[in-house]
Amino acid sequence: MDIPDVLRHALREASMVTAFTGAGISAESGVPTFRSADGLWKKMRPEELASMDGFLRNPALVWEWYAERKRIIAEVRPNPGHLALAQMQDLFPRFAVVTQNIDNLHQRAGSRVVHELHGSIERNYCMACGHNYSNEAVLAMTGVPACTACGGRVRPDVVWFGEALPDDTWEAAVHAAQYADVFFSIGTSAVVYPAASLPIMARRAGALLVEVNPESTPLTPDADVFLQGAAGAIMPAVVECVQRERKGKR
Ligand code: NAD
Repeated sequence: MDIPDVLRHALREASMVTAFTGAGISAESGVPTFRSADGLWKKMRPEELASMDGFLRNPALVWEWYAERKRIIAEVRPNPGHLALAQMQDLFPRFAVVTQNIDNLHQRAGSRVVHELHGSIERNYCMACGHNYSNEAVLAMTGVPACTACGGRVRPDVVWFGEALPDDTWEAAVHAAQYADVFFSIGTSAVVYPAASLPIMARRAGALLVEVNPESTPLTPDADVFLQGAAGAIMPAVVECVQRERKGKR
């Protein structure tokens, strides 16, 4: 695939590159997205599952859903899109992944700097005393997991609708947006705020904004470059382009 000159030039000069990712980058690994035609939300309303109200109303349903997702995510593997981002970290002086995903696939692919805006499905904690639980521990419990230390309810360590993002992670994400020379927005429908404000923040601070998605999104009109297609095909092509240019220069 052809990489537009403006992107090729920006990547040649870039000292900091940021990749902002959403559920779409994990779609090719077999993790369903929320808003695609076969997405999880088509079958269930998000606030019934991923919100404190939903959890308090029906903790058994919410845990059933998370247990299922934990099992899916434990079995899937990073795809060429995740692997390309792990390669990119060695091609630029500074590189960061900011993700809305909770699936740990960037880390499994080898990415070292990953700011998880929405937490991780691999962690769980007691809402009463804060005690941490592994997935192995919660999946071994029957029904709604209860804290073995205090009896409180255990929940997944993910950010639910209506909850604030962790302060330190958000600050790191803003920094990664504001200092980026090139900012990739990959596989996100760009509608969940405040995360969705990061691409615009980056562009206002001077980054070249590149969107990677098979479909256009509310962000597309603001993107400097729109690479239409699957992340698993496009990101390896971007890496190859950077590597080819570097070789050509030597
Ligand atoms: P989303 O479901 O709203 O949007 C997914 C986007 O990815 C769409 O724009 C779609 O066109 C695009 N897409 C589909 N296949 C793609 C591919 N192969 N390559 C590139 N793009 C592709 O997801 P979102 O924007 O991340 O936002 C919703 C919330 O969903 C986030 O808060 C996130 O926490 C949560 N979520 C996470 C996971 C996960 O961890 N893997 C899965 C589902 C939802």
